[in-house]
Amino acid sequence: MATTAIVGGRALVGPQLVPVARATILIRDDAILAAAAASDVDVPDGAAHVDATGFTLMPGFIDSHVHIGLASPPEVLGGGVTTVRDLAWPPRDIWSLAAESKQDDWGGPEVLAAGQMLTVPDGYPLRASWAPRNTGRAIRTASEAREAVDEQADAGACVVKVALNDLVGPTLDAGSLEAIVETAHARGLRVTGHVHGLSELHKALDVGLDELAHMLMSPEQIPPATINRMVSASMTIVPTLSCFFGTDQTIAIDNLRAFLEAGGRIVYGTDLGNEGPRPGIDPREVDALERAGLDGVDIVASATTRAADYLGLTDRGALAPGLSADLVAVLWAPGAAAVELTQVGMVWRRGRRVR
Ligand SMILES: [Zn+2]
Repeated sequence: MATTAIVGGRALVGPQLVPVARATILIRDDAILAAAAASDVDVPDGAAHVDATGFTLMPGFIDSHVHIGLASPPEVLGGGVTTVRDLAWPPRDIWSLAAESKQDDWGGPEVLAAGQMLTVPDGYPLRASWAPRNTGRAIRTASEAREAVDEQADAGACVVKVALNDLVGPTLDAGSLEAIVETAHARGLRVTGHVHGLSELHKALDVGLDELAHMLMSPEQIPPATINRMVSASMTIVPTLSCFFGTDQTIAIDNLRAFLEAGGRIVYGTDLGNEGPRPGIDPREVDALERAGLDGVDIVASATTRAADYLGLTDRGALAPGLSADLVAVLWAPGAAAVELTQVGMVWRRGRRVR
């Protein structure tokens, strides 16, 4: 068995991401054997040493909104993102990629996927320039909606994605949307939505949509009563602030701040593949999250411990014994500007060093 000791650096240890000034992380094969203060870890004879002086070790990032087919998987992994959730891509390509990404020698992040985005004829994203044919799937009736969800669940979907984008075309009616949510929940899946427009957001709340795949896409302030409704319904937001620009981003950040102050849950996601985010831990996203009120450790939590918990990934998301050795060494130190989290020096996926 191959054992590696990463020594001399700081680390955010355990499910609480406790900052430890001088930590030792032991990796054996694909798993973490120990992660604690250096004085509490016995390094076995013959272990390989990696010097992490000057770095902070943290769990690999989970990006809960990507389109991996538009990015380079090795660049994403090298940038510190060890797991991604793809939110709409043609079935022909995404399910084989998801299967390939489960192999130990795969050179990118592990890919979880939604499959197709459910919409209506002429709705988003059927004519979107970024989306290859079959990225979206048009639903005409509630029974077609049920069939689509069942098919995707059978193919291995980890979530169901719907389009509620009233900017570019018609959207799913309440009946179809209800059928989607009901069928998804019966299959143990959440439903996430691309939501543009306050009226679409209210429709989403009426049918019990679980998640926003972006902060509200329209440049509208979400009224406090709606924010409270979202929080009490446990609606989760994947903000993707890096795909908003200018005033739109300011409004999205203000909406996020209000949601966080009301006690809302977010998990980190960038919409990688679309205009804006960079492969790996994204500077614009991290910077915007900081402006919405999160500190560096909160941001790490949203992309690691909390994301793993939310997605039901019990085998990763923290530096703790027995978990998958998905690790990133960054130049950020607790208290420093969050954007330093994107200064990635070393990356391990399942115990294998890839950078
Ligand atoms: Zn997207």
